Amino acid sequence: MKEDIKENCWEFMRCGREPGGVHAEELGVCPVTTEVSADGLNGGVNGGRVCWVIEDNCCRDALEKIGRSKKSSCMRCEFHIRVKSEESILDLCNTIGKYLTEIHPVEALY
Ligand code: SF4
Repeated sequence: MKEDIKENCWEFMRCGREPGGVHAEELGVCPVTTEVSADGLNGGVNGGRVCWVIEDNCCRDALEKIGRSKKSSCMRCEFHIRVKSEESILDLCNTIGKYLTEIHPVEALY
């Protein structure tokens, strides 16, 4: 049985800020893509499916620099909505809660 492949934010948003991405050398690698402490959360690679809680995520700046608009809040982002639709609300809350309280305590970005 083929395992479902879950997209990471850089694949969904096509920002090119992942290591080796088309904008990585010019604009820098986004910390979300290298946040190993978040690896596997919501089935993503590094912070790829919990990007909205990763400290120093450069999403707004990154998307604006490549001519795309970013929603005023990560809560309105198409990718966040997509992850919410793919994960059970209980799993999503547990995953984010665990990350923020145990793995890498940071202030939420929203
Ligand atoms: S948080 Fe935004 S800029 Fe960073 S990898 Fe994800 S989509 Fe790209």
